[in-house]
Amino acid sequence: MANCAVVGINWGDEGKGRMVDLLTDHYDIVVRYQGGGNAGHTVINDKGKFALHLLPSGILRDGVVNVLGNGVALDPENLLKEMEQVRANNVSITPDNLKISDRASLLMPWHRDLDELEEQRLKDKKFGSTKQGIAPFYSDKYQKKTVLAGELNYPAELKEHLLDLMEWKNLILTKVYNAKPYTEEMIDAWLEEYCAKIKPYVCDTGKLLREVSANGKKILFEAQLGSLRDLDFGIHPYTTSSNTTAAFAPIGSGFPGVKIDEVLGIVKAYSTCVGEGPFVSEMFGPEADELREAGHEYGAKTGRPRRVGALDLVATRYGVNVQAATQIAITKLDVLSYLDKIPVCTHYVVDGTETDEFPFPAALSHAKPVIEYVDGWKCDISKVKKWEDLPKAAQDYITYIEKAIACPITYVSVGAERDEIILR
Ligand code: GDP
Ligand code: MG
Repeated sequence: MANCAVVGINWGDEGKGRMVDLLTDHYDIVVRYQGGGNAGHTVINDKGKFALHLLPSGILRDGVVNVLGNGVALDPENLLKEMEQVRANNVSITPDNLKISDRASLLMPWHRDLDELEEQRLKDKKFGSTKQGIAPFYSDKYQKKTVLAGELNYPAELKEHLLDLMEWKNLILTKVYNAKPYTEEMIDAWLEEYCAKIKPYVCDTGKLLREVSANGKKILFEAQLGSLRDLDFGIHPYTTSSNTTAAFAPIGSGFPGVKIDEVLGIVKAYSTCVGEGPFVSEMFGPEADELREAGHEYGAKTGRPRRVGALDLVATRYGVNVQAATQIAITKLDVLSYLDKIPVCTHYVVDGTETDEFPFPAALSHAKPVIEYVDGWKCDISKVKKWEDLPKAAQDYITYIEKAIACPITYVSVGAERDEIILR
């Protein structure tokens, strides 16, 4: 495959990590271009079971070079913890297979504090943050009040820069939130304990990507979260604070001129959503509990029970469009095997008018789902490897979705393990 972005079409947790892990067989480079350690990409393969947060999923494939682009929220402390966890499963992580962009901004401990403090202040109006400091981090980045990873190579300037930022942050921490201020000693400890250890991984990743591309190598871009959490095109304000869409991959990777040939959109066979915000096709009660259990829908990062719902064709079509997806992978089809009839949300009714267009965010709370039921297949499909061997009702479900979203479905995943996949 040519340069390809693997993106989530819906609210996230569609199985991006699982698909990246499969596709790395054909790639030399995997790049994370946005988001931070608030991701939870679960990958199960011959090396074990991993919940990856900031590390690109290509880290699990020998010989693949992994890049954390300038668009990510680089938290040195959490990255090091994650590296240790992954290494504990005999995965090698060295400056040869992990490269951190010198232009990536560093997520500071105060970003995590401020995330927590603001969610506490908001009480029942909270955003459902994972409290990894992502929103305060990106706000500061846009205010140019972050330090770049490459500044680790300029210690004197870096120290002064950090002390200036600390002075400003302390005003907010103490005067707005009545919290404890940071001290120079705390900054020194953070630099020594965490930053010194990530320094060997920091380099000009844009240069690297341009070079490998000129040598004919193909790049795989790995998104975090999904279209509906994109800062500009998602369910504002219940989005994340970065752009999850494929169009951002060139910018966030450090190679703004790169051409992305394929956008593989990942869609779960039903809907899930972690955190707050409108979720039109949401199910409640025993029906929801049964689906949540069948799909083990608990957050990889937080352990929070995920909200579950019917596959939402309105939101999915929108997601396909904003991502400009060229092909789709449907995941977790096996999870629906227990259902006699599968609910699908085909339209919304917004203030009495039926529509198949995804509404403006503020109108979403007025939207009610129109649910249609399609036949289930009621048998175990988790061992199926070929399209022809899928029961007719399962094939029909896939072709029904394909028609509704007007994008070819090229992969059907029937299990979490690497080879539990049907290529169409
Ligand atoms: P991501 O954030 O998009 O990478 O997705 P997550 O890893 O948060 O959530 C997807 C979950 O579904 C993970 O636990 C995967 O191991 C699991 N998974 C992925 N594909 C399949 C599938 O086809 N069938 C089943 N049963 N589980 C799957
Ligand atoms: Mg996830």
